[in-house]
Amino acid sequence: MKKIAIVGMGPRGTSLLERMITYIENSKDKVNISFLFFEKNKEFGSGCHKKDLPKGLLANTIASQITMFYGDEMESFGPVKSGPCFYEWHTQIKKQPIGESDYPSRSVLGEYLNYFYDFQINRLKKLGISFFEINEEVIDIDSSFGRASIKTKNDNYKVDSITICSGHEDMEVRNDRVFDFVFSTEKMHEIPSGSEVGIQGMGLTAFDVISSLTEGRGGEFVASSDGGLEYIASGNEPFLNIFSRSGIFLSSRAYNANTSFIYKPIVFKTESIEYMKKIKGKLDFELDVLPLLITELQIAYMQQGGEGALDTDYFFHPEKKLDFNDEKKFVESFCSLLKLDYSQSLDGKFENPYKFCQDVVRDLRDVIRVATDYSALNPESHKVLINKWQPIINKICVGPPYLRLMQLEALIKAGLCSVSTAANPTVLKTENGFKLVQKFNNDKKEKNIDYLIKARMPTINFNERKDTLVNNLKEKFRFFNNGGFQYGGLDIDSQHRVIDINGEPCENFHAIGLSSEGPKYFTLVLGRPGMVSTFLMDSNFLANKIYLDVLSSKENVVS
Ligand SMILES: Cc1cc2nc3c(=O)[nH]c(=O)nc-3n(C[C@H](O)[C@H](O)[C@H](O)COP(=O)(O)OP(=O)(O)OC[C@H]3O[C@@H](n4cnc5c(N)ncnc54)[C@H](O)[C@@H]3O)c2cc1C
Repeated sequence: MKKIAIVGMGPRGTSLLERMITYIENSKDKVNISFLFFEKNKEFGSGCHKKDLPKGLLANTIASQITMFYGDEMESFGPVKSGPCFYEWHTQIKKQPIGESDYPSRSVLGEYLNYFYDFQINRLKKLGISFFEINEEVIDIDSSFGRASIKTKNDNYKVDSITICSGHEDMEVRNDRVFDFVFSTEKMHEIPSGSEVGIQGMGLTAFDVISSLTEGRGGEFVASSDGGLEYIASGNEPFLNIFSRSGIFLSSRAYNANTSFIYKPIVFKTESIEYMKKIKGKLDFELDVLPLLITELQIAYMQQGGEGALDTDYFFHPEKKLDFNDEKKFVESFCSLLKLDYSQSLDGKFENPYKFCQDVVRDLRDVIRVATDYSALNPESHKVLINKWQPIINKICVGPPYLRLMQLEALIKAGLCSVSTAANPTVLKTENGFKLVQKFNNDKKEKNIDYLIKARMPTINFNERKDTLVNNLKEKFRFFNNGGFQYGGLDIDSQHRVIDINGEPCENFHAIGLSSEGPKYFTLVLGRPGMVSTFLMDSNFLANKIYLDVLSSKENVVS
């Protein structure tokens, strides 16, 4: 009997399982197989979107654009096994209304992911395939001697195939008055009301923190007469001071009246990138890829009725419009950019060519993947993409729902949130906390804060990780390194085989998702209905490979 192990039963692990079950179901051969699922959290399936997260933490994808199921659009790559996308599940199975373009809470997303996991477990039971749910942390993996092995604190397991999909680093560091790597917001209830809090970052995590320290403290956002929101304080809130390196928030996602629309590129196409790779070898993101993307954006802007040309300088660098003359002017410029951004989002994606172009970038991330995956960029340029352009791309197309920016405006108006030190202030340690120092051309602003919240997700870099599993993997397997540029997780080949320390691909050890970030670009995604998504493509490819590996060893096939 072949034993197949999956380490990390989050969305990636469960999607891989779904594909393997479908290959087994569709095969005329009966395989003698048994599954071992390793998951350190008590919930299997939901991964980082745990069902008990506070309700105020939102996903950044709309309800109708999330799926775990392998639908008809994927047919040419593998056997279809359709099922409800998140929106269909919410309305038809959970039987609760939700808008197609509503942003669900991550806890409800966790429920959907858990439902998908249970769905697979029921299929396994029907097929009579044995499986073991091992609710323990994996601390070591070895693949060198015939059968591979997995070590947890309590046991050792010998298996035939291991796939690691360990996802996000689940670390929270609380060091007196500093909260770092905030993954959920549970610990924040310890921050007393009335204290001054610095929130570093203006992305999704920061908005989660803001929500938990305001709505989560009993406050309420209500519609105001000017079309915006008003905040009714509970009196339990601390005072917030937000800041980030660029001084600008992630741009909000526009209202989407046609959620199944996927932009079809004219010039920034997979074929164009493949052709360039063929004639040039390694590509340069800024010289070869970006100009094509910009041309595509100009076309999209024009087709969508944009006036003149798209101002790409503003599109990529809205922070350049911040006015650093003095504190008053700075705050005014910040607030007017905030209002402009959410007003454009309220227009709707199809009514506002600028917002339309932001979603074009999101729809075309797969083309960037073709230009990047498996070290297709030269090392220097790969570094430029990850360190310089990735934050810009995130700012454009993985931002929060527009409601979050409206809420931020309401908090500023209510005097509960200051943006006076928003643009990369110097952070000085004081006796009782920190001081933020923001310099303007004509004055400066200093603000004492009691607590510092670093509202950021850990960057994916196995070289910097401290957890036992990654440290043990380092001894035996190669971490990704493109000609000296190191970031991400394990090095894999195009068949998802992990490369060992001697440069040889392992036949019985594969990596998928964030564990393979580096060789793969931007693995932090779920499936999208109607789209050939990289999430489903990767699971399908790997499941087929593992299944064929099983079939190829005759003793595992029962005729
Ligand atoms: C705050 C936040 C918001 C997000 N919002 C969205 C969104 O709206 N839409 C979207 O598409 N994506 C979103 N993402 C991206 C996210 O990457 C995917 O949604 C998805 O969770 C990735 O699945 P995964 O299985 O790769 O990783 P994870 O969800 O992190 O799951 C990995 C699993 O592996 C387990 N594990 C890890 N190490 C071990 C070990 N040593 N032993 C045993 N088990 C282990 C973990 O407990 C976990 O359950 C968001 C991510 C974050 C952090």
